[in-house]
Amino acid sequence: MSDLSAKYELVIGLEVHAELNTKSKAFCGCPTKFGAEANTHICPVCLGLPGSLPVINKGMVERAVKAGLALNCSIAERTKFDRKNYYYPDLPKAYQISQFDMPIAVNGSLEIVFKDGMRKKIGITRLHMEEDAGKLVHLTKSGQIGDAENSLVDYNRGGMPLNEIVSEPDMRTPEEAYLYLTALKSILKYIDVSDCNMEEGSLRCDANCSVRLRGETKLGVKVEVKNMNSFKNVQKALEYEYERQMKMSEENETIKQETRLWDVNKGKTFSMRSKEESHDYRYFPEPDLPPLEISREFVEVTRKSLPELPLPKMERFVKEYGLTDYDASALTADMGNSVYFEKAAKISGEPKQAANWIMTELLGRMNEAGIEDINATKITPEGLGELIALIKNGTISGKIAKTVFDEMFTTGGKPEKIVAQKGLVQITDTKEIEAVIDKVIAANPKIVEEIKGGKAAAMGFLTGQVMKESRGKANPQMVNELLKKKILG
Ligand SMILES: [Zn+2]
Repeated sequence: MSDLSAKYELVIGLEVHAELNTKSKAFCGCPTKFGAEANTHICPVCLGLPGSLPVINKGMVERAVKAGLALNCSIAERTKFDRKNYYYPDLPKAYQISQFDMPIAVNGSLEIVFKDGMRKKIGITRLHMEEDAGKLVHLTKSGQIGDAENSLVDYNRGGMPLNEIVSEPDMRTPEEAYLYLTALKSILKYIDVSDCNMEEGSLRCDANCSVRLRGETKLGVKVEVKNMNSFKNVQKALEYEYERQMKMSEENETIKQETRLWDVNKGKTFSMRSKEESHDYRYFPEPDLPPLEISREFVEVTRKSLPELPLPKMERFVKEYGLTDYDASALTADMGNSVYFEKAAKISGEPKQAANWIMTELLGRMNEAGIEDINATKITPEGLGELIALIKNGTISGKIAKTVFDEMFTTGGKPEKIVAQKGLVQITDTKEIEAVIDKVIAANPKIVEEIKGGKAAAMGFLTGQVMKESRGKANPQMVNELLKKKILG
């Protein structure tokens, strides 16, 4: 970041489209399953053929209410659908059914947690329901439409139910935008309304950003950035825009209101269209769908059905298990990880150890193996809990436990069995350890003299030798004590 960041601040608002995980589309019975052969999940309604009529999918409304409540929004008593008119080949009706002036949920908020435990509340302006457009595939090497000789269209995605979630321009750094997206995804997955799979396009983000002098309250000229396929790319694109807009402001260049695309390979944004070309969508109420009344009972029943959300769960983990804010936040970001942790913590009786093993060993190993779901690994929470209990009761050392853990990760075996089969039980017999120590002392007379002469640090070398000689099985605490006694008396 250049020195100009002391002078200018970045203002960010995000628009997120989350595809809802209903079985059928927003206004017809077509299946929503991803990856089907092109143009097989279509019907007269989602193709917009004359005479066809849309019907509201109840599952879509339920999920929108759930998401609205989880984001602390007020749920409208009365809501309606509108037509957003524009022509594009991926939109056969030439309009998209969306919501304009009466969205289903408004005035919410989401809290982000920084690494140091500090928090910030980001306002949510609105959440509304709409249908997705089809998908264009441009036949080019670059993937850019301008170079295409031919384009193909797949209408399977057309008519899929979406929630568009619009934040207030409350974020001030690209990192805050990243944390907002991570927290939002976490919540949507907890309440099971979307798969939030960015690779399959079920979560998409557009960023609005502008710069202004620090202390200024008026917003600068807004630039919209699209085409970012990961949260890290959103952060990078915003970092790039911050620099670009600060430099332009410093050189008194006019920043244009425009839409820019992120080029992931070049690490740059480039202009797609300016304000002059932007559309007037001429919204009007969808005449084929009745306005919706959302009963207060339904809202309350839905509110009660919500699971414990990531942030309250994080606070409980800190209080109940004595975890740090950072550990608790990392473990609760994913619902599966949080449930796994609680089981392992209860079985082992060592919550902090369980958190450490999951975060450093298990998640690290999953990352290497390309496994995303903790429940898809061969180590069960019960197995991990038992492994930690074996360290706690002195059966094995922490070092040996890593060997056992490796075996469990590969074969899925139970820790006691692996320890017994491989003869890994910790040596806690004083005589046995003393025999090894005597051998090591005899082999290292110089170092023993150094220790006697006051060089205490050399003790570590001897401890290491004893552990090596016992193939890691000697109890390290006993080794330390016995060595001291033997050498220093
Ligand atoms: Zn259909």
